[in-house]
Amino acid sequence: MTPETKRNAVIAVTVVAVAVAAWMTWGYLGRAGASGVEGRIELKVFCDQCKYTADAELSELTPPAGGKAARAPIFGPGYKCPKCGKETLYANPYVCTKCQTLFLMSKGASGAPERKCPKCGEVQ
Ligand SMILES: [Zn+2]
Ligand SMILES: [Zn+2]
Repeated sequence: MTPETKRNAVIAVTVVAVAVAAWMTWGYLGRAGASGVEGRIELKVFCDQCKYTADAELSELTPPAGGKAARAPIFGPGYKCPKCGKETLYANPYVCTKCQTLFLMSKGASGAPERKCPKCGEVQ
């Protein structure tokens, strides 16, 4: 190996190392940017009427005429559902631990709110 080829080899290794570091940095920033853009609040929404389910962004949802969407149908109207057009779209539904059905808080026999799965009856 002449000193010249040795120098070129060192340069080549350095270039590759810098390229890999840059690629990793950009890859990391790219991923962080895709999932954590400022002001984006992503949540799961569920329509009590047509069972429409989606991952939505808070700013994309249409609040009810009253201004603020309720937590569940028993507390008032929710967001406007893009599928059926009713104000029955609620954020962050419960997921039944037994049958994985999505559901919202309902009123129990005593009148108190309860988290009971409408499909299998499991109380969460
Ligand atoms: Zn709907
Ligand atoms: Zn269930």
